[in-house]
Amino acid sequence: MVITSFNPPIRTLMGPGPSDVHPRVLSALARPTIGHLDPSFGLMMDEVKTLLQYALQTDSQLTFPVSAPGSAGMETCFANLLEAGDTVIVCQNGVFGGRMKENVERCGAIAIMVEDDWGQAVSPQKVEDALKAHPEASVLAFVHAETSTGALSDAKTLCALAHQYDCLSIVDAVTSLGGSELRVDDWGIDAIYSGTQKCLSCVPGLSPVSFSERAQERIKQRTQRVQSWFLDLNLVMAYWGGDGARSYHHTAPVNSLYALHESLVMLQQEGLEQAWARHSSLHLALKAGLEAMGLGFIVPEGSRLPQLNTVTIPEGIDEAVVRKRLLHDYNLEIGAGLGSLAGKVWRIGLMGHSANASNVMFCLAALESVLSDMGANIHTGAALPAAQKITFG
Ligand SMILES: *Cc1c(COP(=O)(O)O)cnc(C)c1O
Repeated sequence: MVITSFNPPIRTLMGPGPSDVHPRVLSALARPTIGHLDPSFGLMMDEVKTLLQYALQTDSQLTFPVSAPGSAGMETCFANLLEAGDTVIVCQNGVFGGRMKENVERCGAIAIMVEDDWGQAVSPQKVEDALKAHPEASVLAFVHAETSTGALSDAKTLCALAHQYDCLSIVDAVTSLGGSELRVDDWGIDAIYSGTQKCLSCVPGLSPVSFSERAQERIKQRTQRVQSWFLDLNLVMAYWGGDGARSYHHTAPVNSLYALHESLVMLQQEGLEQAWARHSSLHLALKAGLEAMGLGFIVPEGSRLPQLNTVTIPEGIDEAVVRKRLLHDYNLEIGAGLGSLAGKVWRIGLMGHSANASNVMFCLAALESVLSDMGANIHTGAALPAAQKITFG
């Protein structure tokens, strides 16, 4: 068999990421590759840094995209801030808090777990109790937007608690960046990592990170070397941090960085606060439609993520068949439940460029058509008018 070019199907991506990539970003990706030490590439990298500082609302100079997906940003934060024997308070209310625990333990540090039910926000009270009980803790780590459950935690309050008890904060903002209010400097976040394929609507494979002065101080005071050569910030910064004089560390993913640059320019053109508002108003339209159909949310109102809607499945319906049919008949991808929610919920993403009014209407119509064809016990004909009423008043 002769293998020829791969042409992917055209899908609408309304799962937990990646989200739809805007044509402007895709065309940036296709621009000519230049050397990663080329002076004009260096100028673009400086702009990426400035644009990321805006997106994260930070003045920190140690702000740049790690050349690998969100999980590598996660490892960068833990590997640089932890030394063997350190104690870390890790909040877990879904899948990604569990990965934080893995990271802590692989650094030879001790994870003290603060657990909340899946679908609930992290409880500041439980965190304060753990901080009190463990004065030896040096870091508090939590997920701002739990993509596995759709719950948003109060990052501002949790970071204030960390400082009150003399801890640094590590925050997973993979799904929150660009979709929910996030203010790194105002909230006193010490180390943050994100991803490009969720609310930034860029291609997957890069992880924006940023570190406060206090975090940088901690890294400088390390007595042990960072065990990962690739993620050691002392080395990476010689490439990202230099004033023009960049030295070779690794070959930067040149074209992916063009794409990130373009998606951040688009975010700046829209305005960060307008982007947050767009995600929440479209969430309200989708919610109105889903509820009119008879579907419910598992996350309590008030801690629901607009960009990740975790919804219940009508009784007797095989959720995997629904997703298969949406993909096959409508080219629409929605997400399955993860971990303990597998088989029990769908995760409908409204992330970045995917968060638009036509997608909301399309998703409601497609879901209703598949569910009613499968004989599900739902209200038909009510979802679109309900969503439309929210969108157009
Ligand atoms: C997607 C995601 C990650 C992992 O990012 P990758 O780019 O898949 O490595 C980490 N944390 C959260 C909350 C996520 O949603």
